[in-house]
Amino acid sequence: MTTSSPFLAHGIAGHLVSTKENGNSTPIYSALDGTVVASTSTEGLDLSAAYTYAREVGNPNLRKMTFQERGRMLKRLALHLHARKERFYEVSWSTGATRTDAWIDIEGGIGNLFSYASLRRKLPNTPFALDGESLGLSKGGTFSGHHILTPREGVAVHINAFNFPVWGMLEKAAVNWLAGMPCIVKPATATSHLTEAVCREIWASGILPDGALQWVCGSARDILDHVDERDVVTFTGSAATGRKLRQAPRIQALSVPFNLEADSLNAAVLGATVEPGDPEFELFIKEVRKEMTVKCGQKCTAVRRILVPRHLMDATQEALIASLERTAIGDPRKEGVRMGALVSKDQVEEVRNQAAKIGRDADLVYHPEGQFLSDAPEAGAFLTPMVFRTDRPMDAAACHEVEAFGPVSTLMAYDGVEEAAVLAKMGRGSLCCSITTHSPKEAQDFVYNAASMHGRMLVLDRDCAKESTGHGSPLPLLVHGGPGRAGGGEEMGGIRGVKHYMQRTALQGSPTMLSAITQQYQPGGAQIESEPHVFRKHFEELEIGDTVTTHKHTVTEADIVNFANVSGDNFYAHVDATSLDGTIFERRVAHGYFVLSKAAGLFVDPKKGPVLLNYGIEEARFTKPVYPGATIGVRLTVKEKIAQEKRDADDIAKGIVKFLVDVYDETGETVALATILTMVKMKNQAD
Ligand code: NAP
Repeated sequence: MTTSSPFLAHGIAGHLVSTKENGNSTPIYSALDGTVVASTSTEGLDLSAAYTYAREVGNPNLRKMTFQERGRMLKRLALHLHARKERFYEVSWSTGATRTDAWIDIEGGIGNLFSYASLRRKLPNTPFALDGESLGLSKGGTFSGHHILTPREGVAVHINAFNFPVWGMLEKAAVNWLAGMPCIVKPATATSHLTEAVCREIWASGILPDGALQWVCGSARDILDHVDERDVVTFTGSAATGRKLRQAPRIQALSVPFNLEADSLNAAVLGATVEPGDPEFELFIKEVRKEMTVKCGQKCTAVRRILVPRHLMDATQEALIASLERTAIGDPRKEGVRMGALVSKDQVEEVRNQAAKIGRDADLVYHPEGQFLSDAPEAGAFLTPMVFRTDRPMDAAACHEVEAFGPVSTLMAYDGVEEAAVLAKMGRGSLCCSITTHSPKEAQDFVYNAASMHGRMLVLDRDCAKESTGHGSPLPLLVHGGPGRAGGGEEMGGIRGVKHYMQRTALQGSPTMLSAITQQYQPGGAQIESEPHVFRKHFEELEIGDTVTTHKHTVTEADIVNFANVSGDNFYAHVDATSLDGTIFERRVAHGYFVLSKAAGLFVDPKKGPVLLNYGIEEARFTKPVYPGATIGVRLTVKEKIAQEKRDADDIAKGIVKFLVDVYDETGETVALATILTMVKMKNQAD
């Protein structure tokens, strides 16, 4: 068995702190044969030094970087770890994981880094971000508001569960790093040797700035004694521990954000419109088997409750058991093994105890004698799947309350989709819930009735099955978390997750002042007439607020007729003056697209120059009808600039410039507003 080191090291304040001399160390056992693979101890460890280092070194290093820089850093780190992934697979065997389980953990974790690296494209090239739209707060237009997001000034403390030692860390760290916060990771002791191996590699890479990552392997029961109002704590684990830690005195007294992801009793529903023989029946059985056997059912999202139309209970039970029978269990390094071991013998005991509670009001219909493919079948933490069944789930409280964190699930009969939703909600809040059906009506009824108590829902059918990521997979761009028992927290979810590590501040002031602070032009802010035309300026030369005020054009009936002919848009309001009774139009009205097209004709400087292309329009609005005789002009203003990275050395150095297009008429009132997106060359092609 390979481990990174028999005595684990903590990564604190820039140093590897060996646990060797600490005495009282906790052994970490191999899930496959019970041998000691590493030891660790947190006795005497100075955790306050880790907090100080994160706040004084890691945080300033990260917060001054822009989102683009942080995103590129994540990408480099993802590539670095990916190239060394086999080392982590080697360590992972001892946790009982199969290659597939470890793939979810290791490559799934690295995938999270890639996803958050790519998210930089949706964020500005500044250390801060804006949230929502600018808001006018006064009649005269001199007072406005906008929300600004700045990285919190402390450290993100991640206390993780044992089941995903790599993914559990990276799904969170990717997000706090992109947001500009450092982290201290505390993996669960039982699998901390794998987390440690990855953390050491991250440090060795030198890709992250100093202080961005620290870790502590082992119990660290005093870890929350040092948090303060600048920090964020995230916890993943059992609901009981989570509830206790949320009450920690400093969390309470200093209002430290605490995100709780706890165990939940996730349900998978077989639609009542499905019959044996339908593709959905087979898909359902496959999905439930997968959820019970992948990671030996040690997944927070695993299916614990299998809701089946009453008339299909026997058929489902039979098919599920037949499918589970075909799953070879044992040492995952052996040929043919599909299900590995639980994390430890203690955990096997814990699962048996919890299953016994479920057995008080459900029948155990499957739990075969173990035939484990292993050289140490007795010493390994192997357990065969357990399927319970109840035909009266409304009265079976334990099935909706007790989590056995292993290959344990209960078949439950339901009558009608509404009852299925009621039963799904009896878990009192879960991370995910799925329904397998090809009937849109059934799916719609179920989702409307059940969604409020679930963080994520999957509708599985023949159309999406091939590419579906499955019931149990949280995804970086979708929220992971759930109400009630699941902890009431939320993480990932793309940019939503990034915001958890940033403070949202409502900023008020004059539009000119807010434009300067936010680096985004705010409506009503000062517009500085640009000389030369903005299309003649390179990316670096453009300033937020630079404006071109164009010459004007008086709209004619001929314009409208010509535009109708060119576009083929003969909507009655543009072409038939006799049809306007009962409409809001007084006369035939110019096409909104004509107004915007004409605006382009007015604001474009046509000669070849730094503007490479126009690649889109955002937020276009036609705010006032334009009739023949109206005279329109345009103010084109630099709204926002985002520098782009070069794809390769030969690429043109360029950035995106967003221009606000304000089209107004002879009364000065705005008739159309839009934001156009252009790509503009940089003067310095070395950038
Ligand atoms: P756990 O016993 O609740 O432990 C979770 C983490 O909390 C571990 O790192 C543990 O450290 C730490 N911890 C426990 N008591 C602590 C204390 N007083 N102070 C500081 N840290 C403390 O859960 P687990 O056994 O590792 O994981 C299994 C459970 O996690 C299952 O119930 C599962 O459903 C849940 N889970 C939920 C999610 C989710 O996203 N919602 C994901 C995975 C797992 P030690 O290991 O050192 O004790």
